[in-house]
Amino acid sequence: MGVTNGVNGTNGVHAIPAVNGNGVNGTNGHAPLKAKLAELDASKLTITLSETLKPVPPPETLVFGKTMTDHMLYVTYEPEVGWSAPEIKPYGPLTLDPASSCFQYCPNVFEGMKAYTGPDGKPRLFRPELNMARMRRSADRVALPRFDTDQLLILIRRIVEIEARWVPKAKGHSLYIRPTIIGTRPSLGVQASDHAVLYVILSPTGPYFRTGSRPVALLAVDEHVRSWPGGTGGFKLALNYAPTFMPAQLAAKKGYDQILWLLGEDRRITEAGAMNFFAVVKRDDGDLDVITPPIDGTILPGVTRDSCLALASAHPSRTSLPNLPNSLVLHTHEQLITIPQLFEWSEQGRLLEAFCVGTAVVVATVGRIGYDDKDVVLPKYEGGMGPVAKALYERIVDLQEGKIEWEGWSVPC
Ligand SMILES: *Cc1c(COP(=O)(O)O)cnc(C)c1O
Repeated sequence: MGVTNGVNGTNGVHAIPAVNGNGVNGTNGHAPLKAKLAELDASKLTITLSETLKPVPPPETLVFGKTMTDHMLYVTYEPEVGWSAPEIKPYGPLTLDPASSCFQYCPNVFEGMKAYTGPDGKPRLFRPELNMARMRRSADRVALPRFDTDQLLILIRRIVEIEARWVPKAKGHSLYIRPTIIGTRPSLGVQASDHAVLYVILSPTGPYFRTGSRPVALLAVDEHVRSWPGGTGGFKLALNYAPTFMPAQLAAKKGYDQILWLLGEDRRITEAGAMNFFAVVKRDDGDLDVITPPIDGTILPGVTRDSCLALASAHPSRTSLPNLPNSLVLHTHEQLITIPQLFEWSEQGRLLEAFCVGTAVVVATVGRIGYDDKDVVLPKYEGGMGPVAKALYERIVDLQEGKIEWEGWSVPC
């Protein structure tokens, strides 16, 4: 692979000091090499607290993503320097060069996670290492600078601690955390951004559905496609979302809440809105199949999706999910689901439930699915949610709020 001189790695290479050698550069008569770029380092954190704190609005008035807390975490990356000393400082506008690549080519990454109040009154996070790992994969996909995910998590815990008064205490309420990285290379050249700003903002939120769990209507769409093999749908990149806004408006005009994204000739289901999709199908032996499409690059690997799969497959052998009989066995499958298959299950009376999952909503029940001027209508349940959706919702919220312990998923800040 590119080595043609037969003396693999020996011609002159011996004299080059370690690229990242700290302070021993420039030996053997070679020009000094660049100083090591600074890593993201939580121990360098500086904190400037806001002089005037905002009033925390009553939890019942919260609208998702509207209210921001008093502070933000802010770090920059410069090609000659690396990561700056992280700052927690008053929430406020960023000043950016208008040529910054984030405005032009969208090398932008985000995460969505939440802090919950535990029984001890202290904030907790839910499986945050999964968000950190996903954020790093997303950053890699758009060639943004790498960062130490453990250090970022330390910094996030710190800002959540500082904003503890913003973490709502009511059930189903939480502090939404939005870690973001934007490419800030100040040049119009179409290439990777070697400048970046990493920031974290926080917003208190209530339950997605205030009036019980109203089942959502999905419109299955194949005219517009959210993700495709080799594309970026499996990463939390800002560029995946803007193209969904216009189709979402079309669906809303037709009376649907969210789009059910399809892909390919076989009209396989990928996701619903910006949530992962599950179907619950009755088997001949009376057990239930709990099915979600596999992580094949076209599906965002959701933390909630993974949690649902793990909990459903643990019932009833390792745990009893709320209000599900132990005689009911849930068989989980990461398996392709097509629209014709879904319609067939429905006609056979085997499609018992469909639901969408994600951090914002946790679990949302699907009431009907439109495709090609026909609607699949799901069975109706008292209170809105089917038993499997409800069991997963209740258990996940209890785990997030630290009421139950399960495999170290909920961690105190
Ligand atoms: C964030 C997101 C999800 C849900 O992921 P969680 O980790 O469960 O919040 C699902 N699909 C898309 C497209 C997303 O952006």
